[in-house]
Amino acid sequence: EGKLMQGKRGLIMGMANNHSIAWGIAQACALQGAELAFAYQGEALEKRVRPLAASLGSDYLIQCDVSEDKDIEKTFKDIEEKWGKLDFVVHAIGWADKQYLRGRYIDTPREAFLTALDISCFSFTAVAKEASKLMKDGGSLLTLTYLGAERVMPHYNVMGIAKAALESSVQYMAADLGVDNIRVNAISAGPIKTLAASGIGDFRYILKWNQLNSPLQRNVTIDEVGGAGVYFLSDLSRGVTGEIHHVDCGYHMVGMKNPTAPDI
Ligand code: NAD
Repeated sequence: EGKLMQGKRGLIMGMANNHSIAWGIAQACALQGAELAFAYQGEALEKRVRPLAASLGSDYLIQCDVSEDKDIEKTFKDIEEKWGKLDFVVHAIGWADKQYLRGRYIDTPREAFLTALDISCFSFTAVAKEASKLMKDGGSLLTLTYLGAERVMPHYNVMGIAKAALESSVQYMAADLGVDNIRVNAISAGPIKTLAASGIGDFRYILKWNQLNSPLQRNVTIDEVGGAGVYFLSDLSRGVTGEIHHVDCGYHMVGMKNPTAPDI
């Protein structure tokens, strides 16, 4: 009936609350007729996720800690039993010990490095492998990244290295899965005030800097990331894979402070 995602079924991973980027994408997909399942990290989050899912007409919640292979396996087994197939997955998950999201990158210990890369990069590969087996009519896999992968941002540190690996994995998986008409893309979002972002040192300063120096002279919203999400998860982008798409009010291409912006 004219909706862009009518008849599509997808899994949203990484919704923690109503500030989450995953929530912006979920709302936009539901508005376009998609049927949604939600994977949440641990029991503590269920009471936040359940009412948000319900408001979009879904009571399909699955607990999944992506650092556990058995949780990932269980999640897609459940989807296979309930739905039989899958059209899309949103991976909006990242984590690093916030102790190392300040100061110098070079001081990151091995353990903190490996955990950040495991949860923020490898989990998308592990999820893509299981999800792709259920994408019998093709599909779309989407993750979230940040400009700190491409350029040095203060305090982003080991997350920048994890996002660089994540972006490269988007390209390798796009090559692996293209033959099955499964597309793999990432949205590189500008800074947004979320739970995850609050762990980054001086995040308020980063927000202010982007607001003043973006071509659009403001910060991006989760609704705007949701709009780009609909593009990647629907057939609108059927010719697009391996793409890192910036939704950041244009900040990524700025080479110098906007001279018309006020000082901070
Ligand atoms: P958020 O805190 O709302 O979401 C992060 C999610 O990751 C949470 O739901 C959390 O439960 C989940 N998570 C962490 N470890 C997990 C694990 N082991 N198993 C399962 N889930 C786990 O914050 P957000 O900003 O919406 O983050 C979503 C994604 O967007 C992240 O990849 C983040 O790096 C990326 N991103 C955020 C910004 C920003 O400024 N907020 C900018 C660009 C990219």
